[in-house]
Amino acid sequence: MSQYLDSVMETVIKRNAGEVEFHQAVKEVLETIEPVLAKYPEFEKAKIVDRIVEPERQIMFRVPWVDRNGEVQVNRGFRVQFNSAIGPYKGGLRLHPSVYLGIIKFLGFEQIFKNALTTTPIGGGKGGSDFDPKGKTDLEVMNFCQSFMTELFRHIGPDTDVPAGDIGTGAREIGFMYGQYKRLSNTFTGVLTGKGLQWGGSLARTEATGYGLVYYATRMLQDAGTDWTGKKVVISGSGNVAIYANQKATSLGAKVIAMSDSNGYVVDEAGINLDVVKEIKEGRRGRIKEYIDAVPSAQYVEGCRGIWTVPCDIALPCATQNEINGDEAATLVKNGVKFVAEGANMPSTPEAIATFQGNGVAFGPAKAANSGGVATSALEMSQNSMRLSWTFDEVDQKLHGIMNAVYDQCTSAAEEFGMKGNLVAGANIAAFLKVAKSMMAQGVV
Ligand code: NDP
Repeated sequence: MSQYLDSVMETVIKRNAGEVEFHQAVKEVLETIEPVLAKYPEFEKAKIVDRIVEPERQIMFRVPWVDRNGEVQVNRGFRVQFNSAIGPYKGGLRLHPSVYLGIIKFLGFEQIFKNALTTTPIGGGKGGSDFDPKGKTDLEVMNFCQSFMTELFRHIGPDTDVPAGDIGTGAREIGFMYGQYKRLSNTFTGVLTGKGLQWGGSLARTEATGYGLVYYATRMLQDAGTDWTGKKVVISGSGNVAIYANQKATSLGAKVIAMSDSNGYVVDEAGINLDVVKEIKEGRRGRIKEYIDAVPSAQYVEGCRGIWTVPCDIALPCATQNEINGDEAATLVKNGVKFVAEGANMPSTPEAIATFQGNGVAFGPAKAANSGGVATSALEMSQNSMRLSWTFDEVDQKLHGIMNAVYDQCTSAAEEFGMKGNLVAGANIAAFLKVAKSMMAQGVV
């Protein structure tokens, strides 16, 4: 990195002490944009990088609620409104006990660049809470969601900031939050995405991140002269992204042989039966180990990280950040993996990315490969503004077109700046250029 970028990185570490995931996300971007700053010296003069790493606004708040035993519980809520250079803040709400400011900031920072790649006009933001929906009753989840929205509602709006789902925030949570927003604001607007189909949601939004990931990976396969037919695929996680990545990859001829949750993983060499997974995860909110009750020929192994020891051609990490480290990447490479595309946000550590790229594995980074979800959220916003609904096929076709455009931007930016084939650099550069030029046009704000 140049001296200038080094000094920005130092400030980020000093100002955001202990927020290691945020440091990691910033470093990955700064490491790849040096040639852009050399070509556009005006960016450094206008302190674009110093500004882009500092959120426009960070909101932290108390979320008190009453549990099933009548006990008062207190969680912490977050919304980081990171960058609005190209549109209203947009990004999901994560509900998971691991959530703290550093996680929300890493996700919000990534979101700026991801959203810029989608070709739609949305800025970057992220939020959430350390509340754990797992094991809670519907009433407890509703109590929490209503309390969370009672503070959040004053900071968001359909032209200001439009949150969505993420880990732990699915259709149920979005419903409870939307109801409370509507009640407090007395408006029925597209203030959240991922809404139910009867009340403003978009067809294909549920499928969008997983499908988009597979559309993006399809382009990686095509560039290598191949396709999904007969490929063995390992997908971590068994949530929203993982399930629909499996569905689309399977429909294109791949065989998904392993999936996981935070407790362990299942291997089914005959190909994972997705109906069983959907029934467990979407139907009764169960655990992946229950898969073997329905498919006794499959194998369940305790411990989720072991999934990377399962030999495969294509790995799609779709669970959480830093779920593949350098050693696990080396195991994947040793076992013959040829393609890795990230469905989760920042699932590969820097050492894992270096291992993949250093061993000729085609690597599709999260901010490009999983951008189909937020892109379709932007399509949901458009439909809400127009007060009409497109068909599943219309949305899916638009999503497919967007993922092709995302891929094309990554490859052409990488080539233009002398890093042909490096999709990490390509994604960071294409996105940074769009946001930086918009910030330049809008003055020092
Ligand atoms: P879900 O909550 O639907 O599913 C998450 C899955 O990952 C579950 O199987 C969960 O297992 C597993 N998981 C979560 N945390 C951990 C952990 N610490 N260790 C191991 N496994 C874990 O979330 P999504 O599918 O929506 O999100 C998955 C990833 O994709 C996240 O990184 C998210 O930010 C990213 N993403 C999601 C988008 C979307 O549209 N939903 C859009 C773009 C990115 P368990 O049930 O045991 O917790």
